[in-house]
Amino acid sequence: MKQKIDSIINSMRLSRLEKTLRKINEYSTKFESFTDEALQQKTSDFKQRLKDGKVTLNQLLPEAYAVAREASRRVLGMYPKEVQVLGAIALHEGNIAEMQTGEGKTLTATMPLYLNALTGRGAFLITTNDYLAKRDFLEMKPLYEWLGLTSALGFVDIPDYEYKKGEKKAIFNHDIIYTTNGRLGFDYLIDHLADHIDDKFLPDLNFGIIDEVDSIILDAAQTPLVISGAPRVQSNLFNITKGFVDTLVEDEHFEMKKSKKEIWLTEKGIQAANDYFNVENIYGEKYFDLVRNINLALRARHLFESNYDYFINNGEVVLIDRITGRMLPGTKLQSGLHQAIEAKEDVEISRDLSVMATITFQNLFKQFDEFSGMTGTGKSGEAEFFDLYAKVVIQIPTDKPIQRIDYKDRVFLNINIKNKAIIEEVKRLHEAQRPVLLITRTAEVAKYFSTQLFQMDIPNNLLIAQNVAKEAQMIAEAGQLAAVTVATSMAGRGTDIKLDRKVHELGGLAVIISEHMENSRVDNQLRGRAGRQGDPGTSQVFISLDDFLVQRWGETALNKNKQLQSMDNSKLEHSRVFQRRVHKVVTRAQRVSEEQGVAMREIANEHEKSISIQRDLVYKERDKVLSLKNVDDFNLQSLARDVFKEDFILKHNQITESLLLDYIYKNISFKFDGDLSTINITNKSEVLEFLMEQFNKQLSENKAQLKDDYFHLRFTQKSILKAIDSGWINQVDNLQQLKGSVNNRQNGQRNAIFEYHKVALESFEYMGSKIKGNVVKNLCQSIITYDDGDLVIHFP
Ligand code: ADP
Repeated sequence: MKQKIDSIINSMRLSRLEKTLRKINEYSTKFESFTDEALQQKTSDFKQRLKDGKVTLNQLLPEAYAVAREASRRVLGMYPKEVQVLGAIALHEGNIAEMQTGEGKTLTATMPLYLNALTGRGAFLITTNDYLAKRDFLEMKPLYEWLGLTSALGFVDIPDYEYKKGEKKAIFNHDIIYTTNGRLGFDYLIDHLADHIDDKFLPDLNFGIIDEVDSIILDAAQTPLVISGAPRVQSNLFNITKGFVDTLVEDEHFEMKKSKKEIWLTEKGIQAANDYFNVENIYGEKYFDLVRNINLALRARHLFESNYDYFINNGEVVLIDRITGRMLPGTKLQSGLHQAIEAKEDVEISRDLSVMATITFQNLFKQFDEFSGMTGTGKSGEAEFFDLYAKVVIQIPTDKPIQRIDYKDRVFLNINIKNKAIIEEVKRLHEAQRPVLLITRTAEVAKYFSTQLFQMDIPNNLLIAQNVAKEAQMIAEAGQLAAVTVATSMAGRGTDIKLDRKVHELGGLAVIISEHMENSRVDNQLRGRAGRQGDPGTSQVFISLDDFLVQRWGETALNKNKQLQSMDNSKLEHSRVFQRRVHKVVTRAQRVSEEQGVAMREIANEHEKSISIQRDLVYKERDKVLSLKNVDDFNLQSLARDVFKEDFILKHNQITESLLLDYIYKNISFKFDGDLSTINITNKSEVLEFLMEQFNKQLSENKAQLKDDYFHLRFTQKSILKAIDSGWINQVDNLQQLKGSVNNRQNGQRNAIFEYHKVALESFEYMGSKIKGNVVKNLCQSIITYDDGDLVIHFP
């Protein structure tokens, strides 16, 4: 029923797009006969009309798309098909366009990129890795150039490349940029650490198209991008709290929702903590760090499992990518969690770095005025796309009907029997000369199959996500006669598998998946490797009760089922009922896994809400400071007045000479030797005016040391930025730590998020006043020197 309604809604959406398509087709016919020059002339015409306000982008769309379409025939030798044009319209409107593998998303994106770049405000294509960004850019660049627009790869493709001054700015000065989500995210963060307007390089993010949008926004969204700063003061609590947590009993001292990665102390647990640490109430203000560490230790102990979430490798905790099962050396969990796991595993505790700047991908894309996404598997993520961004998924029909057959899962009791069957199946297909793509969850399993196959004299290519470019080439060959390719799920993504002619007759590529992945969307991505552009092909998943998903999420269902536990394989092989039961256990486990993914992203998003509101405010303020051109525009007088009032005057009931002196020394001038007898110290407004006088005196002394207006401006800017940045960096790090601590505050379970936002807001207000105070301090107490004619400021 739901499917039916979905399909009706989708056809309604499509029929709206089709109306526009007809207009485009009319223009297309007309432009066929244009000379190259006349067609190329269109770009500047469009630009002019937009500039003069004569048309909107929406009005221009049909004509502009027809121009881009005709140009791509002439330049690239490819004429965008109607389904591609439909996808292109959906993309301009800011939707998620679901287009199957091989339908030509790269070419589709050129139309909305061209249209949106006509405003001169830039357009981005964002994809998952450097290789794909570069490949797509190089392929499409001639088209944009022919049309009179500029385009660039958003980065220099050399490892650890050091950008020269102004180089990034030059890159982003192009009309159309191809880059990756990771690169863009870091660029965004770095851009907002610039302390001179000329060092800023990123334009306003106007329009972006995200390729493989579900991978980027949903699958890869758990861990935010982080720029690390100084090492944090190391806590010695990791081992101490670990000792405590080891004494606790589930359901008595703590409860947990494993699927949501939530764990908290019960009343009894809190009492136990009070006793253990000999404190009155661990939730008292001063035990913040202790509680945080107890929580970290609890999570490390019960929510993270060795060999599932991480391995111990040479005495180090190495994380595992939950989707691909790949090891992620060098990646660390944030805010002490990594250290807590190290304590749990009794390995050396590594340094915990503070967080300087951070953003999630979800929020990165919210910085765009408009963005859209394309993917082969958008539909099953629709609810999340809608919740997050109010975006709908439009399913674009394929150019030719899909011929791929997705066979029912094959069911086995355990891993050994299953693996044997997989190998037999590969052998059978190989003997018939059909190409086989065998996909596994982890590199280890891929290696195992590859070796087994070699031993049976079946040559095969092994792809375990190591060298993206090489893999792309290898996977491109996976459709040749009798080719056998063993790959992990990530390997060779985004690369088209073309079939040998003879392979068509044999039934196309056979995709065999050695177990279900963390969510069915990834399964579908994998199935989609076969049957591109109306090719024949098949896909089939092999499952068993030893599969990762079952071990991870399905144990309870399995344990409850006594019959399944005592079953032997011969029974299973011959009983459909048992097969169905096993299948049910596996599907259920996958559903739990999917729900857990959604829940984790929800929590991450909730946390990010506070950070992102605050980040926007701070970044705006920063940008304002950077763009001011005149010291008088800063309104330092009223700022200083506020600071003196809040930090000093209102803080003391009675002001004494020694209090005042102390404040002046610490905040305005440590060389102060003025006369306090001239003022009436009991009169607060007089004291305030006196402070203002001292402040202004100090400012003019500083000004005298600054060679000219430019240096004066730079000094003022830098003093303010320094205060903002240290305040903000501190706050980001606080928030990061707060995430981990808040969800097991007392009674906190239901209100954890509320509590988080509340504390986040309080600390933000505190940060604000701290920043203002530091601005005054920086302006007054910095030491100004010159190095080679350049201003060097030593901040207090
Ligand atoms: P997707 O990203 O949707 O899987 P690609 O963009 O990689 O697909 O394109 C698949 C293949 O189809 C590429 O070889 C591309 O050059 C080709 N192609 C795309 N559109 C057209 C077209 N309109 N005419 C001819 N070939 C096309």
